[in-house]
Amino acid sequence: MSDPFANAILQLEKTSKYLSLDNVIAERLKTPDRVLVADLKIVLDNGGTKSYKAFRSQHNNSRGPYKGGIRFHENVTEEEVKALSMWMTWKCALIDVPFGGAKGGVVVNPKSLSEAELERLSREYVRAFAGSLGSEVDIPAPDMNTDGKIMMWMLNEYEKIIGKNDPAAFTGKPVENGGSQVRIEATGMGGVSVLNEIYDQIGVKHSEISIAVQGFGNVGYWFAKLAYENNFVIKAISDSKGGVFCETGLNPESLMKHKEETGSVAGYDDVKSIITSISPEELLALNVDVLVPAAFENTITVDNAHDVKAKYIFEMANGPVTPEAEDILLSNGVVCIPDILANSGGVTVSYFEWLQNNNNEIWEAEVVREKLNIKMTQAYSDIVGIQEEHNVDMRIAAYMLGVQRVVEAIRG
Ligand code: NAD
Repeated sequence: MSDPFANAILQLEKTSKYLSLDNVIAERLKTPDRVLVADLKIVLDNGGTKSYKAFRSQHNNSRGPYKGGIRFHENVTEEEVKALSMWMTWKCALIDVPFGGAKGGVVVNPKSLSEAELERLSREYVRAFAGSLGSEVDIPAPDMNTDGKIMMWMLNEYEKIIGKNDPAAFTGKPVENGGSQVRIEATGMGGVSVLNEIYDQIGVKHSEISIAVQGFGNVGYWFAKLAYENNFVIKAISDSKGGVFCETGLNPESLMKHKEETGSVAGYDDVKSIITSISPEELLALNVDVLVPAAFENTITVDNAHDVKAKYIFEMANGPVTPEAEDILLSNGVVCIPDILANSGGVTVSYFEWLQNNNNEIWEAEVVREKLNIKMTQAYSDIVGIQEEHNVDMRIAAYMLGVQRVVEAIRG
């Protein structure tokens, strides 16, 4: 398995060639400011205790407080968390929100825990790292297998420790607890803003564009649903247990109902159209216009990059294409819309949530949607401008923009 942190450094090194970075800054950017590690010991429902390894990587805060999600997954590693924190730094700079980059993770299969155990683990995470968190220091948010409920347990624990309210210390909270309208769908919505922009600029009807989405969690679902509502044709969707294909298009909302009832998209049927089963691997090689990896890192590697037939890859997951795979894709004319642009809608609305909490404001959903769309289309057009000026691919252009902004903040 390709090491995501090595990939993140490689991407930074590729970009550095186009920016005249001095060595001191280049070296500083390659390493997180700090990586906090803890063993979280919790009491299980059966009275026993169990320990879970936990991380918080704070990569860079030159542009503002560290910001990044917390992931609960059995495959979490320190290297993964470090990579994700570095990507957050570039992402926040690229989308131009005043945050640095961080990421957290716990090595756990949350499905193996009861709700009470999950709450104890979430609170323990905060007890371990509280001294390094806060709305002006480091602001966590949900990521894989974490959600608004977990953010509320964490915020509650944090406020108990510091002895005062600090609602902006965690984002991705439920709306009734100070969360922002549109935060749940924000990551998918940001991706669809860019999708609309690309095809509207080319001048192709959305109904002529077919899409395959790998991963049907928060990001994959909302991307698929909003793309469907914008008249794109969602031909295939997969999750960890299987996938489905329909030549005339799937309705993501009814597919989600099926997933909620059965635990997977696999086995979905619809009387009005012909649905066939496909494996998650087959989905990646489908003959569609847009392929959307929305599950995890290292999905497209040297082993399967040659099979990709899509014209665009929308990296809604973080780090789904390895650098070696990208070389193959580029030589085959496939355009990668890089993760730091494609999935930056989530942190953008997290920023709006932070602003609302700090200013005691509540914004209407329409206001959030409009502001998000402005941010996404601005970042996309800035990147295209850099691409045209320097004749580089979209990832290099996105990195040039993000890294350059961080370097300017470091230089002051
Ligand atoms: P999630 O846990 O809600 O969903 C992950 C999905 O991936 C699930 O449907 C799971 O079944 C599926 N999956 C797992 N293995 C698979 C496989 N082999 N084939 C196909 N599908 C598989 O997580 P999420 O919040 O949607 O995050 C997904 C990705 O997006 C991650 O890389 C995350 O870092 C990134 N991301 C999330 C956000 C956010 O706001 N949630 C923001 C930016 C980036």
